Amino acid sequence: MSFVKGLKCRECGEAYELKPYHVCEYCFGPLEVEYDYDKISAAVDRKTIEARPPNLWRYRELLPVESEPRIGLYSGFTPLLKADRLAEVLGVSELYVKDDSVNHPTFSYKDRVVSVALTKAVEFGFETVACASTGNLANSVSAHAARAGLRCFIFIPDNLEQGKVVGSAIYNPVPVAISGNYDDVNRLCTEIADKYGWAFANINLRPFYTEGAKTYGFEVAEQLGWKLPQHIVVPTAGGTILPKVAKSFEELQRVGLVEQSGFKIYSAQAAGCAPVVNALHRGTDLIEPVKPHTIAKSIAIGNPADGYYVLGAVRDSGGWGESASDEEIVEAIKLLARTEGVFTEPAGGTTVAVTKKLIEQGRIPRDESIVISITGNGYKTLEAVRDSVPVTHDIAARLDEFDRLYERLEAGKTAGGDQASTIASPATGS
Ligand SMILES: *Cc1c(COP(=O)(O)O)cnc(C)c1O
Ligand SMILES: [Zn+2]
Repeated sequence: MSFVKGLKCRECGEAYELKPYHVCEYCFGPLEVEYDYDKISAAVDRKTIEARPPNLWRYRELLPVESEPRIGLYSGFTPLLKADRLAEVLGVSELYVKDDSVNHPTFSYKDRVVSVALTKAVEFGFETVACASTGNLANSVSAHAARAGLRCFIFIPDNLEQGKVVGSAIYNPVPVAISGNYDDVNRLCTEIADKYGWAFANINLRPFYTEGAKTYGFEVAEQLGWKLPQHIVVPTAGGTILPKVAKSFEELQRVGLVEQSGFKIYSAQAAGCAPVVNALHRGTDLIEPVKPHTIAKSIAIGNPADGYYVLGAVRDSGGWGESASDEEIVEAIKLLARTEGVFTEPAGGTTVAVTKKLIEQGRIPRDESIVISITGNGYKTLEAVRDSVPVTHDIAARLDEFDRLYERLEAGKTAGGDQASTIASPATGS
């Protein structure tokens, strides 16, 4: 049974069949999936969902699929950590980390959107899948395509971290690195999609791809005991995940899975690529494209396709946005690691740093529930922190060498020496 009515233009409302269309013929607006919410309300309740396997398809009535999903059966349902040690440093009472750094199989939130996009690609009968990516999407499309036996092309900028490049190539796609930034890659891919007719996860399958991002929000609510958080901070690159998390919260209320309650959503960007946050601060709807310059490469999109919808979702909720410098991002990666044992990439560092800022500014109150969205894994981007972590103490395999090292460390500890200062984060002073 399908709960999908079809596609609809987000701007002019024109209706379309459920086909691999993505732009409106009349106004060039983006298309979005339309559901029959009354039918969904009647068909699902909390118990039904809770009894299903722990993957993103447990919310299948609210996803645009018609067949039995065969891709992404192990993706999603990542941990929601209660982050008490980080909460103490930030001076707040109820803090959670939604941790997609351990999403299966490629350790980022992109495993959600790709699961839905490639399920649709198979339903539509495509044999070749592709994407324009800042790294994580390429990893995920490559891995899911390998498991599904689909031919795969990935297109990435030529300056990505080794972990991101090898982390795609290992799955044996055709990897293509473009000299230029993501916005150049995306422009080329739009032409390739038109000419070759392949399923580009984030271009011609975009209406389906973006729906997969809702599962991040569905899980947060379920894991909070079917309650919405009062505040959630989400990173923004192309602008997919943030409005879709907001949509997920609205849908859960609409179909009666959670009580009506307000939530505020906040956008986090790197200072070196903050077109959406700039527009929020200037109070305009006009997003001025920027040339990205930041270590947070996975969110370095200077001309975000759905930036406009991020502005809408943030403003409708009464939220806000902030940016973080590369230095603040590195400090925040270290802070999350040493307080909660979660190693995120610079996108996650951005979100933690921005959360800290919003709390300090009084934008997020200290006594309400807050979720920090961690969307990627730090093991892929060692370059970002390699030079700012404690160096190894190199010794021979002899007890007397270790004894001497230990004595030095103990002496250093009391004197506030080397060891202590490398590990403590100067940004938080704790
Ligand atoms: C893609 C990505 C995002 C967010 O991108 P949107 O296009 O705004 O959905 C955030 N974090 C990481 C690690 C990503 O790879
Ligand atoms: Zn239209």
